[in-house]
Amino acid sequence: MKTSIATVSLSGNFREKLDAIAAAGFDGIEIFEQDFIADEGSPRDVGAMIRDHGLEIFLFQPFRDFEGLTGGLRAKAFDRARRKFDLMQELGCDLMLICSSIHPDSLGGIDRAAEDFRELGELAAQRDVRVGYEALAWGRHVNDHRDAWEIVRRADHPRIGLILDSFHTLAREIDPDTIRSIPGDRIFFVQLADAPLIQMDLLYWSRHFRNMPGEGDLAVTDFMRAVAASGYSGPVSLEIFNDQFRGGSPQGVAKDGYRSLIHLMDEVRRSQPEVPVDLPFMPARVAVEGASFIEFASRGHETRTLESLLGSLGFKKAGHHVSKDVSLWQQNEIRIVVNQERGDFAGTAYNVHGTSVCDIGITVASASDTFERATALGAKPFSQPLGPGQLSIPAIRGLGGSILHFLDGSSELSKVWEVEFRGEESCDTGDAGLTRIDHIAQTMLYEEMLSWSLFYTSLFRMRKAPMVDVIDPDGLVRSQALEAENDAFRITLNGAEAHRTLAGTFLADSFGAPVQHIAFATADIFETARLLEALGFAPLKISSNYYDDLASRFEIDEELLSAMRQANILYDRDASGEFFQLYSEPFAGGMFFEVLERRGGYRGYGAANAPFRIAAQKRLLRTLEMPAA
Ligand code: MG
Ligand code: MG
Repeated sequence: MKTSIATVSLSGNFREKLDAIAAAGFDGIEIFEQDFIADEGSPRDVGAMIRDHGLEIFLFQPFRDFEGLTGGLRAKAFDRARRKFDLMQELGCDLMLICSSIHPDSLGGIDRAAEDFRELGELAAQRDVRVGYEALAWGRHVNDHRDAWEIVRRADHPRIGLILDSFHTLAREIDPDTIRSIPGDRIFFVQLADAPLIQMDLLYWSRHFRNMPGEGDLAVTDFMRAVAASGYSGPVSLEIFNDQFRGGSPQGVAKDGYRSLIHLMDEVRRSQPEVPVDLPFMPARVAVEGASFIEFASRGHETRTLESLLGSLGFKKAGHHVSKDVSLWQQNEIRIVVNQERGDFAGTAYNVHGTSVCDIGITVASASDTFERATALGAKPFSQPLGPGQLSIPAIRGLGGSILHFLDGSSELSKVWEVEFRGEESCDTGDAGLTRIDHIAQTMLYEEMLSWSLFYTSLFRMRKAPMVDVIDPDGLVRSQALEAENDAFRITLNGAEAHRTLAGTFLADSFGAPVQHIAFATADIFETARLLEALGFAPLKISSNYYDDLASRFEIDEELLSAMRQANILYDRDASGEFFQLYSEPFAGGMFFEVLERRGGYRGYGAANAPFRIAAQKRLLRTLEMPAA
């Protein structure tokens, strides 16, 4: 399978776009004339420059308002086509896209359009080029790929074929399985785009809200399954018009595009194994079994603050690294690694961000499969020189440069804690009943949320929960939870739009998508709260008004309410269960820990409590920032 992307999908000047497209791994492009009109090179130079990047020009697009015209308008349309064919020859591109007409004077009529295309086919043959016809969802007379196909069929010319675009088919809710009855060799090109389901004008929706396959709500996989079943074996190309992407980095958008395309075709192949798809082998999406460890980069007095906070949460120092200044803190299944090395990745992370999460270890069904799939999807492998006694654990760089390690139980990797760490004797802090990591919350710019959710869902068997709005008193934060099967691992992606939100302020001091909080599960939060108090843990103080309000919102037993008030525990409930949570005070510039208990089948994260939690955190941060008198 040849992979392609339309140059209009990216921001930047033409050369920047080509660099990004080639670096992401695409085989070629759809070229948009306006993209290179601004370039100083001649069409021949532009074509050579594209090929110098190792890219093919699969398609020249778009040519508008061709069919259904009469008299002088018709002659003019043919004249325009002739000029574009000449230009294509200069560029070195043999396929032109004609989209269905929106011209007010076009007459309609399947046979009239077919006649226009038959005649154009002759002209195309003379110039040794081909023409593909695409039904725009808002075309004046033709807005359905089945009608476009009928025109192509009746034109009956080897130089005239069909172009399919998932957006135009799926936006009009046309059954993609209708593609299965079109001969694959008459489909000249396939364009893909997804989009979020929003009720709005089709043209506006298409021009501003398209996104990568897998990022939206359209049945792009079903569409592509039907295309593959038809026997089509040409390029598969992304044609994405999106305001956010146009404002984003061309490298990031191109990488996301490549990842989404490879992931999509892999899904198509797996769901329809009898249909051959020309794609190199890669392991399937991997099951996540849990968080193996969270690693902090820290140093000096910041380490002491972090370690005393961990101690007050009931963690014990369980070991010290055999060759590095790295300690392991553990409580039941939860492992927190505190890395004070100066030389390695953690050292760099500390120098840039101060105390922060620099590495996440994920327990997966197969670490080597995860690594192999991640790199097939375009992720960069990560490695650093191994110290004495260190195991080589498969790792990649996530988006924004953070590190993810993969561990599994099937190999020597499961022994890493015994092999690399030596136990400590002197730990007398007690356990607080924290059993496992419930979720990790990453904060990012709102514009980066789609990239991160694609990154995780294309690699792991994780599903997206519905997007939730979190109300910060100073602005909105969008929250998207990703959940592994059996809820073994969850990540919440929090997209900050306003800098004055707690998330936005935290983000302004970092880069990438830092972990802002880590939530630990307990089976009995009231017992845990009691143990935490004994350990000297300082919970985030929740205002008394919160509990008064809670009593008015829910039917809650007086005794339970007073126990929550006493322990600063927040509460939520949904149709299937109850939720209790408490927070630590913020540390390291706005990070915090959360302790939670889920009862019944409660699936959320307490979004309704966020305004109160955030207000309390902000009050505290303001006090901390006040100069000591
Ligand atoms: Mg299109
Ligand atoms: Mg949370």
